[in-house]
Amino acid sequence: MKPIASISLDLDNKWAYMKAHGDPKWESFPTYFPKVVPRILDILEQRDLKITFFIIGQDLEHEVNHAPLKMIADAGHEVANHSFNHEPWLHLYGPNQLAEEFQKTEDNIVKLTGQMPVGFRGPGFSLSDEVLRTLMRRGYLYDGTSFPTFLGPVARAYYFWTSGLSKDQKDDRKELFGRFKDGFKTLNPYSFSWRGRSIVEMPVTTMPIFRLPIHGSYLLFLAQISTTLAKFYFWIALKLCKLMSVEPHLLLHPLDFMGREDDDEMHFFPTMGEPTEKKVQLMTECIAMLQKHFHCVTMKEHVLHAKTNELPASTISVVPEGAQVDLA
Ligand SMILES: [Zn+2]
Repeated sequence: MKPIASISLDLDNKWAYMKAHGDPKWESFPTYFPKVVPRILDILEQRDLKITFFIIGQDLEHEVNHAPLKMIADAGHEVANHSFNHEPWLHLYGPNQLAEEFQKTEDNIVKLTGQMPVGFRGPGFSLSDEVLRTLMRRGYLYDGTSFPTFLGPVARAYYFWTSGLSKDQKDDRKELFGRFKDGFKTLNPYSFSWRGRSIVEMPVTTMPIFRLPIHGSYLLFLAQISTTLAKFYFWIALKLCKLMSVEPHLLLHPLDFMGREDDDEMHFFPTMGEPTEKKVQLMTECIAMLQKHFHCVTMKEHVLHAKTNELPASTISVVPEGAQVDLA
């Protein structure tokens, strides 16, 4: 039997990128969901694959997104929580602010899809003990925020360099994409416990040993040099996962399936100058490669499978618990 793997897709919408980039037009909440979501669902159906979609609560406030987002749940995919406002400084939020972020997103997701999310991923890979405690209080099964790579600070520097952000805006984002030491964290799921509750942390897989990213956008970034190189790189990563007993989790984004023909306002995003067909084809081939070597399931199923074994435990002790925290 093949080892298990999972795939998730963070539904970062056009406005979320514009907001991150400092473009004031984000405030009208432009969307590309009606165009790209059916395209992604078609590919997944052809591959006979169910994955996890992380939804931003704010997107459900706009009717234009309802039909595409409902299609996701109706097709049998897992829907999970990707915060309400998609602010990558969630780790600075206090417990009440966090509870509100989660509640509003959960309410919107349940209202549209009938599914109560059991998984969460913070925007920009920002994770704090307070986020974990809030998730445990709310009965979540897993968090998928951590990103064990050494390249986080490099990605952040590139993003700051290409954006039009002020010093204050940069200060808010100073932990975006994580710290260098995150590269030493484990690639396999582990569990956090707190006051008799627990939650599974499911990291976004990076290449074993080298801890370089292997998510869709990074593969497409490499494909700008050579598609063969990108495929070979992903193949090496999967081989190393097998060798090191890592059950990989692949992260995708809508822009992995969109190219220059689709949107002429997203030039600032790397690989948006590439043709759509090239990007879609590479992503489809990488998904097929993953399926060839691993049995691909949703994150929820991946976590439930991992929980049948004893998971290594981690404590939440990095940030001391604040005085106002005790809502449990
Ligand atoms: Zn996101």
